Amino acid sequence: MTCENDAIALVAGGAGFIGSHLIDALLGRGWRVICLDNFQTGRFDNVRHLEREPRFDVCEADIIDPLPVRLARSRVPITHVFNLACAASPPHYQADPEHTLLTSVVGTHHLLQLAEQRGARFLLASTSEVYGDPEVHPQQESYWGHVNPIGPRACYDEGKRAAETLSFDFLRTARVDVRVARIFNTYGPRMRADDGRVVSNVITQALAGDDITIYGSGEQTRSFCYVDDLVDGLLRLMTHEQDYRGAINLGNPHELKVHELADLVVAMTGTRSIVSYKPLPIDDPRRRRPDIGIARRVLGWSPRVHLEVGLEKTIAHFAAEARAAADLPFV
Ligand code: NAD
Ligand code: UDP
Repeated sequence: MTCENDAIALVAGGAGFIGSHLIDALLGRGWRVICLDNFQTGRFDNVRHLEREPRFDVCEADIIDPLPVRLARSRVPITHVFNLACAASPPHYQADPEHTLLTSVVGTHHLLQLAEQRGARFLLASTSEVYGDPEVHPQQESYWGHVNPIGPRACYDEGKRAAETLSFDFLRTARVDVRVARIFNTYGPRMRADDGRVVSNVITQALAGDDITIYGSGEQTRSFCYVDDLVDGLLRLMTHEQDYRGAINLGNPHELKVHELADLVVAMTGTRSIVSYKPLPIDDPRRRRPDIGIARRVLGWSPRVHLEVGLEKTIAHFAAEARAAADLPFV
């Protein structure tokens, strides 16, 4: 990678699950980092270990609003803008759909304008959800998707599609050097126990001995990428000097059924939890697996962490959080 020690990254959504791992990786490579977050789903605990790090700063703000004066002032140099700001779990992004949509559209526009002013490179954390409930399998970047524009997931899916549109318009008009990652399901330590996604739900339920909730038959598939692999992909995407500028899928092509994931977690935790079947949410995609041919060719990237290894670390994270919560004095 080039210019590492001169690089100053703004990471919007940096207090979240993926954003906080990205910040650790950037600091580890010698970058300076400003974390911009409204703490909607992010937690200060995710970056607390950096409190005394002189190359790190936190700025609390919502990207829907005009950017804070201290960021907008041109004497704060910024060379790279990572836009990860957006609640990613269906229950969280559906809790305030209007805010979710505006985060992707208005918020992304604000950050693209900032990148333009500073001559900074810009990376959008887009999503496999732009493919909706895909009719093409596995999903290649050339597939335009199958999204219900008025369903409960639309605030997220259509918001990210619009954010991609805005990003590519800035690229086409040569205003900003834009990189777009279409991220597939990612998991790992620092996910919230109340996140609501399948990996965190199944693990916390198994550890607590509660019923494991499977929505629908459990025959629907997903492909789960460990967060360290994903962060490596994001860094390669932001720093590569190849000519390719299209969106790039980042995810683990190892596809499994949701009930197979649940079975694996049950076996790994040794829980006596039983499975409880719940209705399948509206517009829940039936199959999802990334084609990562472009990521391999352009970025030399492919995931390395096996599912069992990643789950082991994630289970350890949730077990430690549960122990810490149990140790809290009763008030
Ligand atoms: P997360 O909810 O843990 O992190 C999102 C962060 O953005 C949080 O810290 C939240 O407080 C912040 N945020 C939300 N709205 C904001 C706003 N308007 N202004 C400022 N900050 C705001 O989610 P995550 O899993 O870390 O996802 C990070 C990014 O990656 C998101 O953009 C998400 O869409 C994308 N993504 C994640 C996955 C995944 O499986 N985790 C898959 C596809 C795409
Ligand atoms: N899911 C489930 N039990 C849960 C949470 C989710 O069976 O407790 C299902 C969900 O319906 C979907 C899959 O697991 O089919 C992945 O859901 P998640 O919310 O993790 O991600 P996304 O749907 O955004 O891919």
